Amino acid sequence: MSTTASSRRAWRSQLAFCTADPFHESTAEAFHFIRDGVVVCENGRFAAVGEAERILPTLGDDIPIEHYPDHIIIPGMVDAHVHYPQHGIIGAYSGELLEWLEQVAFPAEAAFADRAHADSVAEEFLEGLLTNGTTTALVFATVHEASVEAFFTAAARRGLRMICGKVLMDRNAPAALLDTADSGDRQSRALIERWHGHDRLGYAVTPRFALTSSSAQLSSAGRLLEAYPDVLLHTHLCENPHEIQAVKGEFPHCEDYLGVYEAHGLVGSRSVFAHSIHLSEREQACLGEHDAAVAFCPMSNFALGSGLFDLDAARQHRLRVALGSDVGAGNSLSLLRCLDEAYKTCKLRGQRLEPAHALYLATLGGARALGLERQIGSLEVGKEADFVVLDPLATPDQRSRNVPPRDASERLFTIFSLGDDRCVAQTIAAGRVAHRRTAEAIPS
Ligand SMILES: [Zn+2]
Repeated sequence: MSTTASSRRAWRSQLAFCTADPFHESTAEAFHFIRDGVVVCENGRFAAVGEAERILPTLGDDIPIEHYPDHIIIPGMVDAHVHYPQHGIIGAYSGELLEWLEQVAFPAEAAFADRAHADSVAEEFLEGLLTNGTTTALVFATVHEASVEAFFTAAARRGLRMICGKVLMDRNAPAALLDTADSGDRQSRALIERWHGHDRLGYAVTPRFALTSSSAQLSSAGRLLEAYPDVLLHTHLCENPHEIQAVKGEFPHCEDYLGVYEAHGLVGSRSVFAHSIHLSEREQACLGEHDAAVAFCPMSNFALGSGLFDLDAARQHRLRVALGSDVGAGNSLSLLRCLDEAYKTCKLRGQRLEPAHALYLATLGGARALGLERQIGSLEVGKEADFVVLDPLATPDQRSRNVPPRDASERLFTIFSLGDDRCVAQTIAAGRVAHRRTAEAIPS
């Protein structure tokens, strides 16, 4: 298909991205840094990526080029676990998980019976993601069908690659938030038929967690996965010790928490389990055998006092690990802040999170956890052109550092350690600027 030069755009900057998993391949093979690079976008995809001196001579004079010599372009970030209806309750003071759910999260979610409210929060939430450089997310809606409609409608209008699902919850929650096994199944099927594969959107079957779904509802979720072989399964697992005890009480015949999901056909290569902090050796091994993915949500885990994710154990079992903000228990949509908390989690565990590994978790690792590595997650020709232009000197603390970074790795680390939404100069989705930080917004 021929295209006109005017449909092409280019960005010139430093480029940092992974094309493989640095936890298993050598960092030299997996991590790429180009000091003076160019990405060319055409029809929403990368048409060229590489050294400026190689690519610039191939471009016509009429192709617009934005030049950021001191910035770094990374792939669009992937938030593998977030609740859009909780964006408005971010930063709530609370006790642990079960108290937070009852007192903070459930009342907020009840308001999503109102479509106009859902539309408004969905817009704000997507704006928040883009402001923070997140171009793809795996998103909980609420139990209300309209909450998913609102989210997908807003995401489609922006041309974003997003995955969402209606929450399945037929017990142990306020009456206003309950469905039934039948209604949950019927509404999920209707939403999958309407939205899965529409533009860049995908569906995830979304039982909240084992405590809020009956065995009948979990079985119906398993049947949905069988009926639709490319939708995801998105739920919570082993977040909090009291939650785990309660699950044992509800499902005494299952070996452990993961065993509940296993018994209902919910553990497989399309499953993404948020948190997965307090896993037994058996559960770790089982997740690995099924090639399941887990979302590491350090901001939420610190805020609710849930515990410290064991990244090394997850990698030893070859789990696909992604990063999740878990807003609203997590207190920011910024995956840069999330990486800082991930780094500290690893430190408290006596583990290391190297900058290239951190970049992987927030980009290609997230894409792989969601089964989207062929579409997004790196700066490679043919992939969808989702990327972020990061300003490494956006915050006062970054500007105060008077020791130049020794290498690309340390340059990235200072962004992960000190950065937030102020570092996101631009977010580009499918080759179009979806967010541009204005000069007025930058503090003097
Ligand atoms: Zn969550």
